[in-house]
Amino acid sequence: MKNDKALKNWLQAMNLNHPLVIAGPCSAETESQILTIAHQLKDSDATVMRAGIWKPRTRPGNFEGVGAIGLNWLQKAKKETGLMIATEVANKNHVDLALAADVDILWIGARSTVSPFIVQEIADALKGTDKIVLVKNPVNPDLALWLGGVERLYNANIKNLGVIHRGFSTYEKAKYRNNPEWQIAIDLQNQFPDLPILVDPSHISGNRDLVFDICQTALDLNYDGMIVETHHKPDEAWSDAAQQITPESLKQMTVDLRIRKTEGAAEFQEKLEVLRSKIDVVDRQMIEFLGKRMKIVDDIGVLKKENNVAILQPERWNKVLQSLIMEGEKNQLSKDFVSRLTKAMHEESIQHQHQIISKN
Ligand code: PEP
Ligand code: MN
Repeated sequence: MKNDKALKNWLQAMNLNHPLVIAGPCSAETESQILTIAHQLKDSDATVMRAGIWKPRTRPGNFEGVGAIGLNWLQKAKKETGLMIATEVANKNHVDLALAADVDILWIGARSTVSPFIVQEIADALKGTDKIVLVKNPVNPDLALWLGGVERLYNANIKNLGVIHRGFSTYEKAKYRNNPEWQIAIDLQNQFPDLPILVDPSHISGNRDLVFDICQTALDLNYDGMIVETHHKPDEAWSDAAQQITPESLKQMTVDLRIRKTEGAAEFQEKLEVLRSKIDVVDRQMIEFLGKRMKIVDDIGVLKKENNVAILQPERWNKVLQSLIMEGEKNQLSKDFVSRLTKAMHEESIQHQHQIISKN
């Protein structure tokens, strides 16, 4: 566990009275697009403007970024508005160009964090820099890769570090473009308790309607800030159109978000709230899992109906109960509790299947 209070210094030096907000388009498209957005962000809570210059696209043939010329546009935006600027770097050449353009914050994208070779190349190119470097989680839910990325930078003597939770890729696309795995981020924080952590609700959601709720969950978990894709004409964006919000919506969002006051709050209360938020996350996951289980139960109901088989199969039910009681013991859950829980689940399943079988 690396307790290094210096890791939070860059954030404290910003002297914000609210969580850090980084906003700006997925990609720099044109000079006028960058300047328009920068000016619209000027009176928002955003203190940093983001824009991708080199865009890692999963499939070739999509817009792959404007390249180094975009750095000039970002510099101009910084000069005109006073916003700090941030972009993604994915190799030594990007780092050299970004440092030469005096980019304030460099981030390592999810597709780079998966590769220790790339992260090491970037760390070597950045050695000893006082720029702020943020490491996004890798695309796949692997804590070691994320930790490894942070450690390679830390070992290169980069102290102005932070991480971004942008969700994890799954084969089965459900509600989110990239599933938030709050627990993985909590495990990372346990290893680096003083490392600032930001949420990227845009790449988690893939859909602007979910951005607010994801930010709220992150703030409830004591995140230090957010990086939000923001575009003056989101629907016309050259990349990630569906997930971008307007600077206007960003302003409204930062007004509406419930921000936990840490100042002056008793340490007990603060710790309690963080623990409660962790429970809320697990509870929501539990309900989601029960929903998934019930969908499978329904499929079995259809199968039983087609084959004219009785709903209740006592032998199978006994096996389920016994195996869950054993699993419960391994997890310090009493036999009585697991039995009651399993019975409640079973009753609900029977009711579901009953409805399916009695439908014609
Ligand atoms: C981005 O922030 O523009 C980006 C490409 O994100 P990620 O690396 O999280 O996919
Ligand atoms: Mn994007």
